[in-house]
Amino acid sequence: MPEPTCPICGKPVTPRWRPFCSERCTAIDLGRWFGEAYRMPDAPAEPPPPDKPEE
Ligand SMILES: [Zn+2]
Repeated sequence: MPEPTCPICGKPVTPRWRPFCSERCTAIDLGRWFGEAYRMPDAPAEPPPPDKPEE
């Protein structure tokens, strides 16, 4: 089997931090994951502007 590599930076995996090479890359991956989780498909971050003009 090929040697496993860090999906973040491509360096050899460190057993302590697998499947990443370091705490840094683990944190980067977690950040990405949370970034995805915060993006909710049916809940836009900002409400759409009202169609009617200001009165
Ligand atoms: Zn890495």
